[in-house]
Amino acid sequence: MKIAFIGLGNMGGGMAANLAKAGHDVRAFDLSDEALARAVEAGCTRAASAAEAVAGAEAVVTMLPAGKHVAGVYESDVFPNAAPGTLLLDCSTIDVATARSNIEAATAKGLVAVDAPVSGGIAAANAGTLTFMVGGTGEGFARAEPILAKMGKAVIHAGDAGAGQGAKICNNMLLGASMIATCETLALAQKLGLDPQKFFDIASVSSGQCWSLTSYAPLPGVGPTTPADNGYAGGFAAALMLKDLRLAMEAAASVDAAVPMGSKARELYEAFVEADKDGRDFSAIIQTLQK
Ligand code: NAD
Repeated sequence: MKIAFIGLGNMGGGMAANLAKAGHDVRAFDLSDEALARAVEAGCTRAASAAEAVAGAEAVVTMLPAGKHVAGVYESDVFPNAAPGTLLLDCSTIDVATARSNIEAATAKGLVAVDAPVSGGIAAANAGTLTFMVGGTGEGFARAEPILAKMGKAVIHAGDAGAGQGAKICNNMLLGASMIATCETLALAQKLGLDPQKFFDIASVSSGQCWSLTSYAPLPGVGPTTPADNGYAGGFAAALMLKDLRLAMEAAASVDAAVPMGSKARELYEAFVEADKDGRDFSAIIQTLQK
């Protein structure tokens, strides 16, 4: 299948490479020459512009920083160049309102669009083991599923337009709040004189068990190997967690939802990201709670 891929950064680079590896004809474009060169090395075809990538493509995947980038590329490059019926898959994490308006605008132009944000970081993007949460019509999902399956281990239809982004920010709000709860709990256990590994062994099989503890323990030498064992490098940057928490707060305000824990998590990550100049993993926030 001829697939345009726009946005070949940390995530998009690996994703486009996996589509090429699966035998698709991937026409890649990024504003960064370096990112584009890596994609070409990985088997994609270089496009001189987003417009050139889109012309003649049966599907268009975008993996861009934020809603304004996706809306901009759709308006200036995708809508004027996509043939009627072309499938648009936006895998970026963006605000629910822009995701919905993008899909509405695409539908009005005779295109079929879905929002398909991902869970999983750069390693999962490279390995093709992302989880995709898809919002859109049944037809959109049916067409998107086989393409997304080449880049992920799970592809789930979350609901109508925007539901993928809704699921993504709800999941990450839960993750942000549970990571902070895990960090402050481990810090307290240490101050109470408990051996952290011993507490890990107990909580892992007790009612406090959660993913942030058992799969992503924020202390070095405790539990499985995580970014904590690597000086908090790699993993999921705290700035990206903050981005998702801000999107969650925006969405919560739009529907008047009470999110006191999410709001506190946003506040704590705002302070952490402001102070941390190393772009560390989001679990490094434990160091601010150990003081
Ligand atoms: P990134 O900054 O590494 O990549 C974005 C790429 O988009 C860059 O290469 C940039 O040059 C390109 N770009 C920007 N505007 C463009 C335009 N108009 N035309 C063409 N290319 C353009 O970001 P990333 O880490 O790959 O993240 C991409 C998206 O995935 C974001 O929405 C992010 O929130 C989401 N996400 C990231 C992670 C992660 O761990 N990095 C995990 C899940 C979701």
